[in-house]
Amino acid sequence: GSEAQAALHRVFGYETFRGDQEVIIEHVVAGGDAVVLMPTGGGKSLCYQIPALVRPGTGVVVSPLIALMQDQVDALRALGVRAGFVNSTQDFDERRVVEAEFLAGELDLLYLAPERLRLESTLDLLSRGKISVFAIDEAHCVSQWGHDFRPDYLALSVLGERWPDVPRIALTATATHSTHQEITQRLNMPAARHFVASFDRPNIQYRIVPKADPRKQLLAFLREEHQGDAGIVYCLSRNSVEKTAEFLTRNGVEAVPYHAGLDAGTRAAHQARFLREDGLVVVATIAFGMGIDKPDVRFVAHLDLPKSIEGYYQETGRAGRDGLPSTAWMAYGLNDVVQQRKLIQSGDGDEAFRRRAQAHLDAMLALCETARCRRGGLLSYFGQDPEPGGCGNCDTCLVPPETWDGTVAAQKVLSTVWRLDRERRQKFGALQIVDILLGRRTAKVIQFDHDQLSVFGIGEELTEGEWRGVIRQLLAQSLLAVEGEYGTLVLTEESGAVLGREREVPLRKEPPKPTVARSAASK
Ligand code: ADP
Ligand code: ZN
Repeated sequence: GSEAQAALHRVFGYETFRGDQEVIIEHVVAGGDAVVLMPTGGGKSLCYQIPALVRPGTGVVVSPLIALMQDQVDALRALGVRAGFVNSTQDFDERRVVEAEFLAGELDLLYLAPERLRLESTLDLLSRGKISVFAIDEAHCVSQWGHDFRPDYLALSVLGERWPDVPRIALTATATHSTHQEITQRLNMPAARHFVASFDRPNIQYRIVPKADPRKQLLAFLREEHQGDAGIVYCLSRNSVEKTAEFLTRNGVEAVPYHAGLDAGTRAAHQARFLREDGLVVVATIAFGMGIDKPDVRFVAHLDLPKSIEGYYQETGRAGRDGLPSTAWMAYGLNDVVQQRKLIQSGDGDEAFRRRAQAHLDAMLALCETARCRRGGLLSYFGQDPEPGGCGNCDTCLVPPETWDGTVAAQKVLSTVWRLDRERRQKFGALQIVDILLGRRTAKVIQFDHDQLSVFGIGEELTEGEWRGVIRQLLAQSLLAVEGEYGTLVLTEESGAVLGREREVPLRKEPPKPTVARSAASK
């Protein structure tokens, strides 16, 4: 209604509501429960902040992101909203002040960590004040099958029992059908109205290219399609962030680095320039972008593989908020797969954690290797039905990739891996496999007598790049695995079926080597 509109203008300074915001807010203001699925950046916060301002009492926000609470509260206070938080980072006195403000009815919003609500003392505190709305942020944390499961979220069903008259709104950016059902069930919100925003970003063109010389490929992409445009380039390491920013600057593209190793002042300055200037490129680790609202980001480029589709979607989603054509461009290669698999294997975390990380990576790899519509892959991952005929605005729709019968090539790779594995003296990675297949007498091949193997030189029909593509796809299909800190290739349970000719291996044809204008991208 008009009160919500007024708060939107007066407090937040926005002209109009976005997407479903207005209906959601009206529904909650009127006292209804809501389950809201909206992609990151879609504007979930206003859906509970405005009801909290409009309804009498304090809006209680349950959020697992303790590290962000201070920032969120500071930002709200800067807008004149009376906000506070209670979490484990506070000492006793700080907490007492916030609790007193709540009891005196002096807070519009109170942020709480979920574990607080397991304490009878917290529930008791809440029942002594007046609550306008409960917002359960990151509601997918209630899902036991999800990667963010938090047992504390299960206890949140108590809210509906103790405060049956206070509306509840559960929000998440994770939209698989099963998660959606679990939220409704476990938070005990059978009467809630459901609002499911589309995850489709039709103005973003998704493209994933084979990685050869990533910086030069990036430069060519920028020169051909995004001259003078603002954009974000994501790299995995600080070192590669620095090098890429330098490389772009040297080649006439204004670029600044952004990563956690830079001091806070430099980071703030670079972020401010990005928001203020037209056409600046920020080269960043994933630390950059959270809460950044720049509508005219024309491209997001990945020089390294994201760990999950969630991450990829979130990062690419920073492009084209203004609805104008934008590009999500990624260069992806064999080393990415080996490196990510290695990280998971050698990282800490228990077996269950590793398995989840592995599953996330597998989904990401499937998206990279698909011969079908990329947007379709993304949407079905988030539980949404894609266009049957493809989107017409991704690389695989625009130039459908060819596939070929890679069974024999796969057998050659797998039997080479098997022979090396049998030696057990030394572990070998992809480089050695390719050298053996191509019959190259490198120092390392001679040192280990690998030129004496029966597989030596049996792969001269493909180029080095093509073999790397085959190995990458075998890794992506889990027909090969990576072991240990050196990225040793080993067989999997499924390799046997290929070696035993019981299984065919269709592979995606590698597009011709990207032509990179070398003279243009000098040094
Ligand atoms: P989410 O929580 O869904 O990721 P946020 O609530 O953080 O998204 O909103 C993303 C950005 O969009 C924020 O910068 C927010 O201020 C902005 N925003 C939200 N709603 C509107 C609106 N109606 N008009 C303009 N900007 C909005
Ligand atoms: Zn498509």
